[in-house]
Amino acid sequence: MQQSLIQALGIVNCAILKRLDEDHFQVVHNNQDWFYALAPEAEHKSSFVFSKNSAFLEYFFVDAENFWKIGNDGQIQSGIWSEQTANALLRLEAIAAVSKGESYLVINNLEADYNKQQKTLQIARELLISNDQMQAQHDYLHARLDEVLHQKHDLQSLQKPIDEVIQKAEIGVIITDANFQLISQNPYAFELFELANQQTNTSPLEIVQGLFNKQFPEFDRIVHTSSRWHGELFWHKAPYTSKWLQLALYPVKDINQNTQNWVFILSDVSRLKYLTQKNEKLSLYDTVTNLPNRQLFWQTLEHNIETSKHCFVLYMDVKHFKRVNEIYGHQTGDHLLVNIAERVSSLLGENDLCARIGGNEFGLLLQEYKDQQQCLEFSQRLIELIEQPFYTDGDDKLQIAINIGAAHFPSDANDSEELMKFADLAMFAAKKSNKSKLSFYSKALKEASTKRLELEKSLRIAIEEGQFELYLQPIVDLHSNQIIKAEALIRWRLPDGSLTSPDEFIPLAEQTGLIIPIGNWVMTRAAEMLKTLLQHKPGLRISVNLSPRQVADRNIFDFIKSVLKHAGIPASNLELELTEGVLIESFEKVQKLLHDVRSLGISVSIDDFGTGYSSLAYLQKLPIDHLKIDRSFVRDLETNESDKAIVLAVIALAHSLKLSVIAEGVENIAQMQFLVKHQCDKAQGYLFSRPIPFDDFCQLLVMEKKNNSL
Ligand code: C2E
Ligand code: CA
Ligand code: CA
Repeated sequence: MQQSLIQALGIVNCAILKRLDEDHFQVVHNNQDWFYALAPEAEHKSSFVFSKNSAFLEYFFVDAENFWKIGNDGQIQSGIWSEQTANALLRLEAIAAVSKGESYLVINNLEADYNKQQKTLQIARELLISNDQMQAQHDYLHARLDEVLHQKHDLQSLQKPIDEVIQKAEIGVIITDANFQLISQNPYAFELFELANQQTNTSPLEIVQGLFNKQFPEFDRIVHTSSRWHGELFWHKAPYTSKWLQLALYPVKDINQNTQNWVFILSDVSRLKYLTQKNEKLSLYDTVTNLPNRQLFWQTLEHNIETSKHCFVLYMDVKHFKRVNEIYGHQTGDHLLVNIAERVSSLLGENDLCARIGGNEFGLLLQEYKDQQQCLEFSQRLIELIEQPFYTDGDDKLQIAINIGAAHFPSDANDSEELMKFADLAMFAAKKSNKSKLSFYSKALKEASTKRLELEKSLRIAIEEGQFELYLQPIVDLHSNQIIKAEALIRWRLPDGSLTSPDEFIPLAEQTGLIIPIGNWVMTRAAEMLKTLLQHKPGLRISVNLSPRQVADRNIFDFIKSVLKHAGIPASNLELELTEGVLIESFEKVQKLLHDVRSLGISVSIDDFGTGYSSLAYLQKLPIDHLKIDRSFVRDLETNESDKAIVLAVIALAHSLKLSVIAEGVENIAQMQFLVKHQCDKAQGYLFSRPIPFDDFCQLLVMEKKNNSL
C-alpha cells in the first residue's frame, strides 16, 4: 500500500505488516517508534520474526494463523489490549487480514482514541452523578409535593416554603388537576422550552403533552392506570434547537386512591444523552455494575428471537432496595448492586446474559437450560447465593431477598415485548411472598391477573357506592358465659345481592392501598355501632382488624382518635387486632403505634396466633392484652395431639405473660369443654354465633339479657 494513500486514508498511527510465511513478516507501513518497542527486530531487517515479548499477541497469533491458513478474504480483530513498553503504556489492537490471497497483520495504536473514550466516560460519569443528584431533587420535590397536595385541594397557594423551592428550582415543575388542566408551572419550565416570556401563547404543559402523545403511545395507559412514569422525551424546535428531556410524571392520589393531581418534573439531559450516544460502552452498559443495560438486553433478546434460539427470560427484582438506599445512602446501594451483579454473573453460562434493566431490576437471558426444572434449579442456586449476607463499609450485615419471574421463548410468547411483560407478570406473582421466590409465567397467571384488575375496578366502585356491611361476631367469656366483645368483620354486598367474603378482597385491597379507605370506613362504622350497643350493654367492646398497610399508614393514630371523639365513645371500648406478621415486619412502627393507642385506653389482640413467626421475644417487648389462638389449631383439638399441645402451650405462655387467651373457630361443645377445662379465657366461633348483621347482634344481646333475668 502506498504511503500517500495510507496518509490520505487517515491511517496514521498503525503498523501494517505483510506475512511472508508462517514465521516471517515484512513491514509495509510504519512511521511510529512505538512499533519498534513491540518488535525490535523489525527496525533493521526487511524480513523479521516476532520475538515472543507480547503474551497477548502470541495468543492472538493462534487464531490468526488459522485464519491466514484458510486464506479467505476478510479480517479478524483482537480487541484492545495494553502493552507496557520502556517509555509508555500502549493501547493496541491487532487485525489479521487476507486480501487477494495475501496475508497481513495490522497493529493499531488506539492511544488517542482510548484517551478520548476515557475522557467522555469520565465526563459522563460525572454527569451521571449530577443526574443522580437531580433525581434525588426530583424525588425530594415529589415527596414534598405529595404531602402538600394531600393536605390541600386548593392549589392556588401552595405552602410557602415548598412554593419557594419550586419557583427557584433548576428543574421544571408543572402541576395539573386530574384532567391535565394546568394549575401551576414554574419559571424553569419556561426556560427549558426557551419561552422567555411567561405570557406567551404556548405553555410548557402543552409542549410536553404534545411530545408525550407523539413519542409514547402508552401515555393513555399511564393516565388510565394512574401510574408513575419516568422516561425521556426528545424536543426539537426549528431550526436549530433540540433537547433531550428527562420527565418524571407522578399522580397524586387522595385517600380513595383517586388521582387528584399530576406532577410533571422535567430536566435537561441533552449533554448526558449526547455523551452516552457517542460512547458505545456508555450507551450499552450500566455504569454502576458494568453489566449490559436495558438497551443491550433488548437487542440481545430480539436477536435471540430472530435466530429462534430457545431461552428463558428472567425478571429479577431486589426486594426493599429503596430501604437500603434510604438507610445507608446511595453509595452503599450502588455497592450492593455491584455485589449482586457479581454474584449473578458468577452463575451464568457462556451464552447467558444478565443486564441491569432498572433501578433494582435485573434481566436474565438463559440459554443453557432445557426445561422449567433446570431453570428452577438455577434460580434456587441464585437465590441461595444472593441471600448470603452482604457487608456495608460500616460492617453492617445486609440480607437481601429477590423475586424472580420467568417466561420461556418460544413456548410462552413469540416477541420480546410480550416475553418481558409475562416475565414481569410472573415476578409480580412471586412478589406476594415475603421470601425470595421464582414464579413461572402461565396462562392461569394471566387470567388471574385479568381477574384481579376487574376485581380492583369493582372494589373502587364498591368504595364509592358504599357497598360494604359490617357484621359482628360475639366473643364469649368462658368464665361467665356472657358476650363481652364482638369482632367486626366486613362483608361486601354486590348489587345483585350476593355477599363476597373478605378473604376474597382484603388481600387485594391491601396490595392496592384501597385498604386505607375501607379500613377507615370499618373503624367509623364500628364506632357508630358501639354508640348504640353501649346502651344495650355498657362495657361491651368491638374488636377491629388492622392490616399491615393500615398499621404503616402515618395518619392511623390521629384517625382513630378523631373517630372515637366524633362518636363520643370511650377508647376502652375499642380493641385492635393485629397479626404476628405485622409485628415482625415493622417492629418499631408497631411499637410506637401500640404505645400510643394503649395510652388512650384501647386494647390490643394478636390475631391468628401460632400461624406466623414464632418469635416470642416481641411478645414481651410489645404492649399487648390478648392472644387469639388461630382456628386451625382449634378445629381438630379433640383428635390431633400436636394441636392439643399447641393450644395448651399458648394458654400457658399467655398466662405467664399476663395476657388473656381467646380461642377462635370454636364450633362444638367438646372443643369448648376442653378450653374451659384448660383455663382458656374467651372463645369465638359458630358454636356461639356466626358473624351477623348489626340488628341481629342487638337481638342477641336482648336475648342474653332476658335469659340472665330468668
Ligand atoms: P380473622 O380476623 O381471623 O377473622 C375470623 C374469621 O373466622 C372470620 O372470617 C370468621 O367468619 C371466621 N370464623 C369465625 N368463627 C368461625 C368458626 O367457628 N369456624 C370457622 N370455620 N370460621 C369461623 P371472615 O369474616 O371471612 O374474615 C376473614 C378474614 O378477613 C379475617 O380473618 C380478617 O383477616 C379479614 N377481615 C375481615 N374483616 C376485616 C376488616 O374489617 N379489616 C381487615 N383489615 N381485615 C378484615
Ligand atoms: Ca381477626
Ligand atoms: Ca383470626
